[in-house]
Amino acid sequence: MVGEVCRNIGCERKIFPPRDICPYCNKPANIEYKFSGRGEVYSFTTVYDAPKGFEKYVPYVVALVKLEEGPMVTAQLTDLEQIWTKKEVDGEMRDIMNFNVQIGMPVEMVTRIRSEDGDRGIIDYGYKFRPPIRVDLQSGLIFKAQEAEVPAAY
Ligand code: ZN
Repeated sequence: MVGEVCRNIGCERKIFPPRDICPYCNKPANIEYKFSGRGEVYSFTTVYDAPKGFEKYVPYVVALVKLEEGPMVTAQLTDLEQIWTKKEVDGEMRDIMNFNVQIGMPVEMVTRIRSEDGDRGIIDYGYKFRPPIRVDLQSGLIFKAQEAEVPAAY
C-alpha cells in the first residue's frame, strides 16, 4: 500500500492515495511512502442494493478506515464474522444475517478481487480491509489472520 509523504519540513504528513501535492499544505509531496496497511474502522455501512457489477457480492460492508499513519480511505471490509439471528418479518420467522463490525475495530489491508466483468473477463483487483482475527465458522477455530492466509485472488 504505497502513498506519499509530504516533503515540507514541519508538515511531513503521510498521504493516501498518492496525489503529488500535499492536501494539508499544498506543497509538493512525491516521496513514496509505504503504509503499514493497518488501521481502524471509523464508520461503516452495509450495502444491500449494489451498483452494477457488484450485485453478486451483496450484502457487503463499506467502511471509512482511518490508517494508523493518519489518512482515511474508503474500502470494502472482508472476512467479517457473520452473526445470524431470527427475526419476524411480515408474520414469518426469518434468518437475518449481520456482519460483526464495530466502529474502532482494528483492520488490516489485503488485496482482493473487487469486481469481475463477466462478459469481458476483466477482474479488478484492489485493496480491502479485514479484521486481524478470523473465526472459522465450521470448526469454530480462531485464527490470527496471518496464520490463515488465503490466496490474494480469494
Ligand atoms: Zn504537507
